[in-house]
Amino acid sequence: MSSYSERARAILPGGVNSPVRAWNGVGGEPVPIAAARGARVVDAEGRELIDLVASWGPAILGHGHPEVIAAVQEAAARGLSFGATTEAEVELAELIRDRYAPAERVRLVSTGTEATMTAIRLARAATGREVIVKFAGCYHGHSDALLVAAGSGLATAGVPDSAGVTRGAAQDTLVLPYGDEAALTDAFAEHGSRIAAVITEAAPCNMGVVRPPVGFNRLIATLCRNEGAVMILDEVLTGFRAGPAGWWGVERAHDLEAGLDPWTPDLVTFGKVIGGGMPVAAIGGRRDLMEQLAPLGPVYQAGTLSGNPVAVAAGIATMGLLDQAAHERLAALADATVTGVSEALSRHGIVHAVGRAGTLFSIFLGLSEPPATFDEVSTQDTAQFARLFHALRDAGISLPPSAYEAWFLTAAHTAADVEAIVAAVDAWAATEAA
Ligand SMILES: *Cc1c(COP(=O)(O)O)cnc(C)c1O
Repeated sequence: MSSYSERARAILPGGVNSPVRAWNGVGGEPVPIAAARGARVVDAEGRELIDLVASWGPAILGHGHPEVIAAVQEAAARGLSFGATTEAEVELAELIRDRYAPAERVRLVSTGTEATMTAIRLARAATGREVIVKFAGCYHGHSDALLVAAGSGLATAGVPDSAGVTRGAAQDTLVLPYGDEAALTDAFAEHGSRIAAVITEAAPCNMGVVRPPVGFNRLIATLCRNEGAVMILDEVLTGFRAGPAGWWGVERAHDLEAGLDPWTPDLVTFGKVIGGGMPVAAIGGRRDLMEQLAPLGPVYQAGTLSGNPVAVAAGIATMGLLDQAAHERLAALADATVTGVSEALSRHGIVHAVGRAGTLFSIFLGLSEPPATFDEVSTQDTAQFARLFHALRDAGISLPPSAYEAWFLTAAHTAADVEAIVAAVDAWAATEAA
């Protein structure tokens, strides 16, 4: 163990402030990061790495974009926090609504966890019901109601997915297999009058990227509308990243092209990209639901640092720079990376599948078809992924330290970066196959 990890473990449980950073999924000792610029991070030993973590999504423009840093510095010079309303927080909320029409009203919070927790409280208050439906493999932050795993059998009460979550909290959450239309329809048939909300990742990205089956999100919207439940679309990761209007915008464009009426979520949660690397998240949605929030309505929600002026400045600058050209650039980089990596793996006979939703993607080793459910994702070869992770690290590339994550590109990655990634995968695949 390095002296750093000894020191970290002597004060931080597991040496980290968020579990995935401990590299338990891949083994080895994480080296702390000292700085980041553009598509690269620099570790504390001075090694520069091409970064495919991007702070788990927020660094969509690349790290430390000069205009974002300038906006943060200007805001900081005016004051770090006032505990009062500011014009900037109104501007960020308007930017969100202007790009994402279902967000008729917006409340800013600091983390995605708060956003989904509040959305659930709103749904329960508005419906007077208690049951939440979620899908196995979708992550919505770490509030009690959402840290629940599937119980035995379909559409039975969930069980705690973490120590410290009460059976009571788990019993009010039904966990269904992702993408399973029959299971969802059955759950509504059996429990419809008790279901307050269905929460789903707009496109699942926290079990690796799983593309929603065509019509699945629409079915959720339809069942919720027909049965008086609230559809909560979690776009904390996909929002303003999977496409200019998140994954909802991608499906909307397809629906319009196919001559279908687009579906609309009732509540949406955002995070990651809207803070550009600072702690900003949001709940948006139907005006009548959102106006249930205090001080207008009876649903309590608050935050000392909500809408923090320095954090919001980063969000406004990031959203401002995130134009059509940036999204096209991300899409082209994702195409090139997926194609190059997949060809390199195939060349050496490494069985793999690509999960893809808009500009988001991940590579599943050991699977020959893109997985559709968490059970299928769980059959991937995580030991082989660990070998890929360490080989790429040695080649100067920082992959997410878990096989259950998306590979994150930024608008600052270049064609040369993609070539370096593909070459490193190719070299690893050659030794792996030998
Ligand atoms: C990251 C994430 C969250 C939680 O956000 P935090 O800011 O880490 O609390 C919730 N939902 C999804 C889909 C996420 O990817």
